[in-house]
Amino acid sequence: FTVLAFESSADDTCVAVVNSSRKILSNVVVKQHDLHEGFGGIHPSVAIEAHQRNLPGAVRRALDDARMKVNDVDGIAFTRGPGIGGCLSVSSNAAKSLAASLHKPLVGVHHMQAHALTPLLTTPISEGPRFPFLTLLISGGHTLLLLATSHTAFRVLATTADASIGRSFDKAARLLGLAWGTKGPGAALEQFCLNTDIDSADLPQIPPFPVPMPGKLAFSFACLHSSVERYIASSPSSLSQAHKVAIAREFQNAAARQLCAKLVLGLEKSALRGIKIQDVVVSGGVASNSFLRARQVGCLDEYSPDEPIKLLFPPPELCTDNAAMIAWASMHRFLAGDYDDYTIDLRPKWSIETLPAVHTVPLE
Ligand code: ATP
Ligand code: FE
Repeated sequence: FTVLAFESSADDTCVAVVNSSRKILSNVVVKQHDLHEGFGGIHPSVAIEAHQRNLPGAVRRALDDARMKVNDVDGIAFTRGPGIGGCLSVSSNAAKSLAASLHKPLVGVHHMQAHALTPLLTTPISEGPRFPFLTLLISGGHTLLLLATSHTAFRVLATTADASIGRSFDKAARLLGLAWGTKGPGAALEQFCLNTDIDSADLPQIPPFPVPMPGKLAFSFACLHSSVERYIASSPSSLSQAHKVAIAREFQNAAARQLCAKLVLGLEKSALRGIKIQDVVVSGGVASNSFLRARQVGCLDEYSPDEPIKLLFPPPELCTDNAAMIAWASMHRFLAGDYDDYTIDLRPKWSIETLPAVHTVPLE
């Protein structure tokens, strides 16, 4: 079964073709960072116009890359939500019109479910996450720790009390005056931390930024970029490059410490409730950060040295938004014959706890 999928919930225009044998036949992502940098964040109407411009070319390329004609696809999927309404509607209108005109089945997908299920596409089945698993979804709009008991059953163990981790990276990058580059502010901050021109002996000591609400599952990231803001405000007017690198590194360290603390707490609480967790999925745009990936592995090795808990990350390019994950999250519904109507509405706000259950067909 081959799915053509569309994703445009935020600022990336994405189209992909994926089949039920877990093969990604094409995966087109058109970024818009250059259009939003001047605004300091995603500008909705600019994003909508860019999706409208970029989507037709992206579909053409996705089909060409997959060496397929549109009639060869068996089903059409799109991101139904959550996301920016106007942005979602670009993909949704394209997907619905195409599906209706070609008489193909249609499935609307939950964006965060797609982030969470990506390792089921990218990790060999024998090593893939086993239900129930925990998933840490760290992205531009969300910071969630979820318990996944099936493809459609997710319980929110923790969310952020304020900003998402992705927005906090974006704000810290802005406070440090970093250029976004082609991959955006979060990736620019990661890159800046790697600065090897500066001898680490020359780096000023930065007092550790806090891990908020110790002993509580809830995340808080506003306090992290506020720490950066306060530190800069209390420093001499112009900071040296070395000083900025030290601040960026402490920011990343503190973000890693918070993720580790909350994840360990989530594992402890699950164990207390008698839920045996063997796997943890970490996904969403921020999970493409190599430093955070390495630190989460270290954190779990320390937590459970005897009975290792497996951490599963999608490859970095499938952590950030893409339509391959949307295709994959739709697959179990297509295989179960559970389609949406061509009149299906959007869900710009949509809790992941309310997905209807689907009788799943095992994939080979
Ligand atoms: P959501 O999935 O919550 O709807 P989104 O779809 O807008 O949000 P994603 O593409 O999943 O966002 O993630 C984008 C976020 O990830 C941005 O805040 C971006 O700065 C951040 N990000 C991307 N790469 C990195 C990186 N290497 N290090 C840290 N943050 C990163
Ligand atoms: Fe996303």
